[in-house]
Amino acid sequence: DELISQIAAGEVVERPASVVRELVDNALDAGATQVTVRLQAGGVRLISVEDNGWGIHRTELPTALKRHATSKIASLGDLESVHTMGFRGEALAAICSIAEVSVLTRTDSGDEAHGWLLDGRSGELQPTARGPGTTVEVRELFFATPARRKFLKTDATELAHCIEAVRRHALARPEVGFAIWHDGKLVAQWRAVAADLAGGGALDALRQRLADGLGEDFIEQAVAVNWPADAVPGETALADGVQRLRVWGFAGVPDAARSRSDWQYAYVNGRFVRDKVIGHAARSAYEDVLHGHRQPVYALYVSLDPTRVDVNVHPTKIEVRFRDSREVHQAVRHAVDAALAAPRS
Ligand code: ADP
Ligand code: MG
Repeated sequence: DELISQIAAGEVVERPASVVRELVDNALDAGATQVTVRLQAGGVRLISVEDNGWGIHRTELPTALKRHATSKIASLGDLESVHTMGFRGEALAAICSIAEVSVLTRTDSGDEAHGWLLDGRSGELQPTARGPGTTVEVRELFFATPARRKFLKTDATELAHCIEAVRRHALARPEVGFAIWHDGKLVAQWRAVAADLAGGGALDALRQRLADGLGEDFIEQAVAVNWPADAVPGETALADGVQRLRVWGFAGVPDAARSRSDWQYAYVNGRFVRDKVIGHAARSAYEDVLHGHRQPVYALYVSLDPTRVDVNVHPTKIEVRFRDSREVHQAVRHAVDAALAAPRS
């Protein structure tokens, strides 16, 4: 079982940033509104992710670290319509097999006077003082697999990957505050944006977060995307019992001097993805706008009925498969076309 976990770890954990991504996924799944990431030596020595979510009950704590232990889906039917970031129950077990893990947690139910500290290696559980929420600490990543450790880049490069992993989450969740510390210094901070979902408030919140997360340069070049035009951005609506396909976000009208080729963020139901369908659709909408070899810049959010997209394609869930990729392609294309054609305000 240890071996299987290590093999799974190889698929899920390539570098410190992969651990950061999984732990932040878990924090968001637990309803956190504030997530603090602390790193040492590019995350190799320490990755600590603290959240103010609903915590893990003492009786569930030991199983949380076991393989295929997930509290998020109970049946195959649930897998069809998964709405949490995690569902495979693999991440913590995999990380435990390649690092020293401890979990500090306290539920938000208030009936407990203190929290609990679980040592992943010994399985020992002891009372500890803390507020509601969870902190997962991962030390000495790849300590048992020196070959893997050797493939890591400099601390600065690993840190940059860790920041990018958090940024990908942050751009999807303006209402959550994020902070990243490295070797005792605050290296990135995105404050929670108060989201007033009524009347386009979600777009305003997103604009604010994109300005914080990607910089004013991005947002100054960007136009709002919202498709279909009568939809309230960020809101989901049913048609005949099925969640309607929607696309929203911001698309940049690239400025040669300031655009960056890595300013291309795509999300499906809140999950950051690398997707050829969305990428191709966006590029084709830009064809008449972009002359030469400039890259489009965008942050696009696609939401659709969870039964129409398979997120269980790859352990890292960075790839998805649409049931009908044509409908998604058309929607993204129309959405970006309309945004780029609209007069700039
Ligand atoms: P998954 O997220 O796919 O369920 P994980 O291995 O990432 O699997 O986590 C296992 C379980 O541990 C989760 O299902 C959840 O119940 C619990 N858990 C992990 N991290 C947190 C957290 N930060 N807050 C609350 N519960 C957590
Ligand atoms: Mg998880």
